[in-house]
Amino acid sequence: MSLVPNVIAGAERPSASGATFEKLAPATGAVLSTVARSDAADVDAAITAAVAAQPAWAALTVVERGRIVRRIAQLLERDRAAVAAVVAAETGKSPKDAAGETDGAMELGYFIAGEGRRFYGKTLPSATPHRHAQLIRQPLGVAGLIIAANTPIANVAWKVFPAILCGNTCVLKASEDTPETPVVFARLAKEAGLPDGVLNVVQGFGAEAGQPLVEDERIAVVSFTGSTSVGRMIAEVAGKRLAKVCLELGGKNPLVVCDDADLVRAAEIAALSAFSNAGQRCAAGSRLIVFDAVYDRFRELLLERTNAQRVGSTDEHDFGPVINERQLTNMLGAVERAKSGGATVVTGGERLTGEGHDGGFYIGPTIVEGVDADAEISCTELFGPITTLHRARDFEEALTLANSTPYGLTAAIWTSSIHRVVAGGVQVDGPTYGFEPHVPFGGQKDSGTGWREPGTEALDVYSDWKTVYVTHDPEAV
Ligand code: NAD
Repeated sequence: MSLVPNVIAGAERPSASGATFEKLAPATGAVLSTVARSDAADVDAAITAAVAAQPAWAALTVVERGRIVRRIAQLLERDRAAVAAVVAAETGKSPKDAAGETDGAMELGYFIAGEGRRFYGKTLPSATPHRHAQLIRQPLGVAGLIIAANTPIANVAWKVFPAILCGNTCVLKASEDTPETPVVFARLAKEAGLPDGVLNVVQGFGAEAGQPLVEDERIAVVSFTGSTSVGRMIAEVAGKRLAKVCLELGGKNPLVVCDDADLVRAAEIAALSAFSNAGQRCAAGSRLIVFDAVYDRFRELLLERTNAQRVGSTDEHDFGPVINERQLTNMLGAVERAKSGGATVVTGGERLTGEGHDGGFYIGPTIVEGVDADAEISCTELFGPITTLHRARDFEEALTLANSTPYGLTAAIWTSSIHRVVAGGVQVDGPTYGFEPHVPFGGQKDSGTGWREPGTEALDVYSDWKTVYVTHDPEAV
């Protein structure tokens, strides 16, 4: 089995220590690959390469950098099936879902490439005649990018495309659960003409390979997608040295069903929000808040849709396994504790075994009801196909419930009064997820630091404004 390597200064390398770890296939539990297990020495080499490559990369025009971004997107399009195959093997999701995710990464590449032709700044007047001020974007330097495994190729694209367009070079710490996906991306980037050292990939675990990246003085911006607990630590460490930090964190996203909703459609969308991608979406609909008046009917329709979900890793299935055994055990434990606390598990809550599931990390679609808003299962992100059902007397109570967790990522509501939901994104008559490449996405409260990815707003993460005063006619001033 060949080694999934680091990519440093354009070269694929084992870890400096020679250490490795095994990555298991979520669909079967079998060893999928052996991966370079990196530590501070590898991170140091990757940062050194990124520092060396940055001035020349930043010296290209942003139009030229956009051209290379576009070329990478074209190669993602050309190699769509091969890229999706790696994503599918590493996550256990179906080839169809992996291809859809690859399309998302590609579309973002095209969008960000277009930004290279705009890259708008601002002009401001001056009180002094014959002068004006300009705001232009400048790169920050080296970006430290740390990602989660749930949508691996999209996660790489969301960070790398805007970071490099803005003139930064990067060190990307791959998720230990999806190590090969960023390597495939880096190979395409090299083929597209991205100079060596502009994108470096370091494999390994958070404490060993992530932490040194966050601590290094040479990293100007840390952009992190992952859990709120790790995000908090990163903010502390990077904050000490005043590095810019963009955190895209967890969610416990409410989907509110009012009494005037189209219940059939609402149940269908609620099931998609809760279970698609095995619930491994920061924007998963993990709390369903339903008006009393329609609760029983909605519950019945939801149960129908839920029981119709097919769990497995082929295109015949609706969703696949969760990413690893540890996460699965964590989910099952949370459901058990809810049960012991008096909750009703309406359906699911158990590991799936038997044909098509043996060895894999599968859990059936799970609905839990009869839990308080402040119960562990109602407030803690589980990142699996598990949702809680809550009753609300009226709109006021539904809003109170919707806003009652520490998170504030996304929400969906089937009504016209959206203005009071506290979340970074709200969908009316839609799912809790599904933001497009040109549309800003990010959270409030414990879900993030207020920066937005992707959209044009992603450029704000990876660039700084430089104010330039221009005097048109020095002699006249
Ligand atoms: P995680 O926080 O455990 O790991 C995420 C990444 O951080 C991994 O690459 C990991 O190796 C690294 N890491 C862990 N400890 C670290 C440390 N001390 N220093 C530096 N890096 C460290 O999260 P996960 O379980 O892999 O991913 C699921 C989480 O990601 C969920 O909370 C989910 O909501 C969140 N997520 C958020 C978004 C968003 O856009 N808001 C998108 C996808 C996933």
